[in-house]
Amino acid sequence: MRVRTLGLIGGMSWESTIPYYRQINETVKARLGGLHSAHLVLYSVDFQEIERLQHAGQWDAAGERLAQAAYRLQGAGAQGLVLCTNTMHKVAPQIEAAVGIPLLHIADPTAAAIRAAGLSRVGLLGTRFTMEEDFYRARLAERHGLDVLIPTPEDRDTVHRIIYDELCLGDIRPASREAYLAVIGRLRAAGAECIILGCTEISLLVAPHHVPDLPLFDTTQLHAVHAAEWSLRP
Ligand code: GLU
Repeated sequence: MRVRTLGLIGGMSWESTIPYYRQINETVKARLGGLHSAHLVLYSVDFQEIERLQHAGQWDAAGERLAQAAYRLQGAGAQGLVLCTNTMHKVAPQIEAAVGIPLLHIADPTAAAIRAAGLSRVGLLGTRFTMEEDFYRARLAERHGLDVLIPTPEDRDTVHRIIYDELCLGDIRPASREAYLAVIGRLRAAGAECIILGCTEISLLVAPHHVPDLPLFDTTQLHAVHAAEWSLRP
């Protein structure tokens, strides 16, 4: 069978690249059976450097690093790119401009799953960049017709801080889970019909069984499954 090779830009953080690798392979195994597994190439960056550029507002420099990674993945045979972070989709156009292969945007399979569930009012959790800036919210709203609610400024600070200070370091704390569940409860009270886990580490902390009364859409899982299915449809 002819399949396409995926190029993963990972390491942002590596804690969430592991579930990508697992989910992509699980999906291929479920489809093809036996000992089948995914054709993929991984370029894993040093997240310390990327995080420093993000918080210094040097997005062009961060985009350049990821564009180079994409170019190298293309050279190594990748036919489609999987950028294993929501936040760095801020520089998706810069990455796309550096290569001649498609970037499978994380927001698209996420929005498709929400529409397929018949929902449209979503609460978005992620880094402050993802929650506040247009590169992500506008894609959900304009391309997919979703109505996006975000937490209050204070709650956004909490969600952002826990991502960088704990989740990206693999530090999973029950008190932080409680904080996230409280933020989710306030989004629901504000009218959210579901929640987008719009940061690839959040599913390390919050799982559907923690929130039995509201559907959670995990971008890591949805993106990885989408990429695996794409690779099987040449
Ligand atoms: N993995 C996270 C995300 O999905 C945050 C880390 C980053 O800034 O890339 O947004």
